Amino acid sequence: MIDIYGREWLEDEYLDLCSQGVIKASDVEKVKGIHGNRCERCLNQSTDWFSTFTYKGNLITYCRQCLDFKMIDDVHYLYRSKIPVQITERAGILNQDFQLSLLQQRASNFAKEILNSYSIGIIWAVCGAGKTEMMFETISLALTQQKRVCWAIPRADVVVELVPRLKQAFPNARVVGLHGNSDEKQSYADIVITTTHQLIRFYQAFDLLIIDEVDAFPYTFDEMLPRLAKKACKSKCATIYLSATPSKADQRAIKAGKLKCCLIPARYHLHALDIPKFCFSGNLESYLKKKKLPWVIKRWFKRQLCSKRRALLFVPTIEMGYRLQEAIRNCFNLEVEYVYSSDENRLKKVGDFKEGTGQFLITTMILERGVTIANIDVAIFSTEHEVYEESALVQISGRVGRNPMYPHGEIIFFHYGVTLAMDSARRQIREMNKSAKRQHLLKDG
Ligand SMILES: [Zn+2]
Repeated sequence: MIDIYGREWLEDEYLDLCSQGVIKASDVEKVKGIHGNRCERCLNQSTDWFSTFTYKGNLITYCRQCLDFKMIDDVHYLYRSKIPVQITERAGILNQDFQLSLLQQRASNFAKEILNSYSIGIIWAVCGAGKTEMMFETISLALTQQKRVCWAIPRADVVVELVPRLKQAFPNARVVGLHGNSDEKQSYADIVITTTHQLIRFYQAFDLLIIDEVDAFPYTFDEMLPRLAKKACKSKCATIYLSATPSKADQRAIKAGKLKCCLIPARYHLHALDIPKFCFSGNLESYLKKKKLPWVIKRWFKRQLCSKRRALLFVPTIEMGYRLQEAIRNCFNLEVEYVYSSDENRLKKVGDFKEGTGQFLITTMILERGVTIANIDVAIFSTEHEVYEESALVQISGRVGRNPMYPHGEIIFFHYGVTLAMDSARRQIREMNKSAKRQHLLKDG
């Protein structure tokens, strides 16, 4: 079913839909792509992003900021649907075969309040708190009130992962996942799960916007995201941010009482978060160049091999991953798989590791978030490296102890000097445990 609600079309898309008889001229409002020094698609107003060229003697201005999505200029029009949305019948019926925990219920109530008051709020929930489920009641309520829902996430693979979960929870609702390679870009959904980029297709479409992992949006889109989000939402809209590691700016806003916040300091299974251990390992680079490992790291590997405990091994750069792989081979005569973002086999390697193949997996930051592997330890190498910001370290630490059967594991930061980020990350995790303890939430005291 083609989506004709809350959409913004380029001229050729619009003409195509007209010729199919899906929409007609009276269904849309048309605006010049760029007028009054503003790009109407990405709402960019900075002239730095505008360029010009001459076509048939006319000077044409176009927007470079949203150029990835075909060119927008001051000659062609954008077409915005005026047709009011029709939420699918009984879309709001929630098929929930589990009970929310006390804490999840607290977050769920907070989210419902945000929805009903059309305000903005953040759920700051530790890794493994079960934040997806916290949103189900609110989505159900929204759909029942004829409100359309958008769930925006930075990464396409998380979009793909979330679609079946939402479909299962809302069997009567239409759910689509939009990302660069999606073949459902034109399809209607009551619940749209999308990467940020794809928000650009919507105009005043949503009544409830959930921005998941709000701190992880690709840096280059930081500037465009708030504008695209604003444009995709109706003027009266509720916005809920979800994060385990809010940005410094959001943390300040929370402290100052400018951003409503619901803090969920404990995991679903109510065991305390494990605290990272710091271990000085000297200049790892120089050891790796000689295909060697510092003795503290060797000792750690020996222990893991003895105890047969599995571990994710994080490296800051692709090159270091290869070097570490080689050093492990040299020191322990052991073959260890390695995954990084441009590795074509990465899904298979991660899948195999999840299934239990191999004791170790070397990875770059790509496994910082989202991945859940039961009964695992985590080691970070060269933790002093600048890629390891506070939020990244908290997220990586959050890979450990997610499964209720194995609620604890070891987190070790091998370093060549403690950084501010390392300190802040450890403090943040400790604070969460303290907060959970104060509220008598934890099973392990
Ligand atoms: Zn633009």
